[in-house]
Amino acid sequence: MKKRVTILTPVYNEEEVIELFHRAVTDVMTPLADRYDWDILFINDGSTDSSLEIMRRLQQRDPCVGFVNLSRNFGKEIAMLAGMEYAGGDAVVTIDADLQEPPEVIPKMIARWEEGFDDVYGSRLRKYPSAFRRFTSTAYHRLLAGISRDMDLTENSGDFRLLDRKCVDALIRIRETQRYTKGLYALIGFRKCPVEYDIKPRAAGKTKWNTGKLIKLAVDGITSHSVMPLRLASMLGIITSITAFIYLIYVLMKALIKGDPVAGYPTLMCVILFLGGFILLALGIIGEYLGRVFIETKRRPPYFVSEACGNFRDRRAEASDNDKKLRTEI
Ligand code: UDP
Ligand code: MG
Repeated sequence: MKKRVTILTPVYNEEEVIELFHRAVTDVMTPLADRYDWDILFINDGSTDSSLEIMRRLQQRDPCVGFVNLSRNFGKEIAMLAGMEYAGGDAVVTIDADLQEPPEVIPKMIARWEEGFDDVYGSRLRKYPSAFRRFTSTAYHRLLAGISRDMDLTENSGDFRLLDRKCVDALIRIRETQRYTKGLYALIGFRKCPVEYDIKPRAAGKTKWNTGKLIKLAVDGITSHSVMPLRLASMLGIITSITAFIYLIYVLMKALIKGDPVAGYPTLMCVILFLGGFILLALGIIGEYLGRVFIETKRRPPYFVSEACGNFRDRRAEASDNDKKLRTEI
């Protein structure tokens, strides 16, 4: 039996590019059709434009296309989780709809997969929209890799990658709702291998990320993979206390030995402001973690599906199959 490769694409307001994307992927995958079954699985992440209608049309015309329509916009990370749960392939290629990541790289990824690698990740040769983004992104990744030592973050890579079924099943088992998938790829391990590619400008449409969303993702990345900020807060607390203590002795000595009167107001003000700011910062950091705990303990389903069409993995059927198997075994 032929192995199946699922191309998984989250879509949020991409009406200008979906058809281009579909054509580009079809051109790349058709020559491989004698060796692999393949399909495209679009996850409509609450698009407000005509993306869903376009997907529906493509699905009716092309048996290789399937789509899952989420009940609203859940964000790319959750859309990818939904996609992985529905993807039926022995390998799943996650790729954006905007053709910034060239589908021509997919056959190279499949070749490496056949060599035995489980997580073949696209490694960007030229990547950033601006020098500022390059600086912030590199600094952030260094920081994250530094503070969470169990993670071996692969540099210059994003969500464009081929994952073996083993990796997909592992990612599905991680149920956190505030996901930083780039960290999760590192967390699950498995045999990794880079494939280089040149990132392109968007085929059409606009980027869905703004500074606010990027900051949220960055905070999620740190708080979901490390407790270093908490530790840092307590370290800073200790350092401040020790410094304050030394200063206290110095002031006391000066007053006792030299009989110097101490100017009270300015010193007091500095100390109060410094400590007040520091305490607020520490509280904020604790709050970030507490907020995550609060959200995760509610165990809400990460997403809701309003419709699914095409050749996807039917988890409800699988669950009831398992159920039957269990019952016959008992
Ligand atoms: N996307 C999504 N949900 C969102 C935002 C983005 O599914 O809330 C999808 C989007 O349609 C695209 C991919 O995620 O296929 C990457 O988005 P984009 O190209 O805007 O990000 P960039 O490449 O600029 O980082
Ligand atoms: Mg893009």
